[in-house]
Amino acid sequence: MMKIKLNNIGKRYHHDWIFRNINFEFLAGEPCVIIGPNGSGKSTFLQILSGLVIPNEGTVEYSNNNQIIPVEHIFRHFSIAAPYLDLIEDFTLAEIIDFHFKFKKHLEGVNDTLLLEIIDLKKSKNKHLKYYSSGMKQRVKLALAILSDTPILLLDEPTSNLDKKGIEWYQMLIEKYTASRLVIVCSNNQTQEYDFCTQKIDIGSYKV
Ligand code: ADP
Ligand code: MG
Repeated sequence: MMKIKLNNIGKRYHHDWIFRNINFEFLAGEPCVIIGPNGSGKSTFLQILSGLVIPNEGTVEYSNNNQIIPVEHIFRHFSIAAPYLDLIEDFTLAEIIDFHFKFKKHLEGVNDTLLLEIIDLKKSKNKHLKYYSSGMKQRVKLALAILSDTPILLLDEPTSNLDKKGIEWYQMLIEKYTASRLVIVCSNNQTQEYDFCTQKIDIGSYKV
């Protein structure tokens, strides 16, 4: 089982501590929401979990069935959908799917045809992503992350730009494809994007 253990994590930019003294254990099958207002440090925290940002204090330990995973290998084990990670806009949908799955495996039972059906943008398959609406792009980001065969799934404000139908679609994907994985969601209090979470971290309570 996948586990991420935080020991006294703290992060500051210049002299300002964003958060400090976070101790927590994330486990597969126990989805967790990171909650807090704009600028409270949710995205910074998620980037620490993904190994993209280094904390100023404390350590992050990754393990699978008690087997330690070194931080420099952790990118193979997670997929992420976040506002600051942009799709390659000069690609068509078909091309971005092809490109993405050069690096990640499909979740079992999912192939490119099914993926296009799930994203429900088949008509736009040969359109460049720069001509997609922000909601269409968000669907693509979420589908690529959720339908990759990775034990860790990191979602930063996943329902941003989605309409009501899109939010229901996201909830269906979560229910169907993430039960056994380690899922972490950042949310600015949009309950529809983290209803399924059984754990919660209020990042605002780790201010100094
Ligand atoms: P949230 O995702 O909760 O909106 P962020 O993690 O994006 O919050 O930002 C938390 C704080 O850290 C903000 O005050 C932001 O300005 C600051 N911050 C984030 N990244 C940097 C950086 N690279 N350099 C300096 N300050 C940063
Ligand atoms: Mg953020």
